[in-house]
Amino acid sequence: MEFNIIPDKDALRKCVWCQKYISDEMEVFAFGAKLKPDIDLSEYESHCIQIGLVSKKKPVYMMVTAAGSEAKNEGKDGMFLACSEACGKKLKNILKKEIGLGKMFEPVW
Ligand SMILES: [Zn+2]
Repeated sequence: MEFNIIPDKDALRKCVWCQKYISDEMEVFAFGAKLKPDIDLSEYESHCIQIGLVSKKKPVYMMVTAAGSEAKNEGKDGMFLACSEACGKKLKNILKKEIGLGKMFEPVW
């Protein structure tokens, strides 16, 4: 699988859903996702990539967790950062749909 790597300075400061810039004062809502075992993103480790969704024509950004990191040890292969609870909820709902479609993600929650 091939993905576009988003430059860190953009990726780490943007909401994955609405792409609004997240400032240091803002509370950030982060959650993880597990990928199917046949999806290998090791070449993108600790980078942010743009992923396509099956259920929606909207690209979202995902941080690929690095081997040995806390998130990875918890079984999370990717992390999503949202600027608000509302954005986080929307993204979670989309991911649930994606899990149902069974292309890329597996449930962790
Ligand atoms: Zn947002």
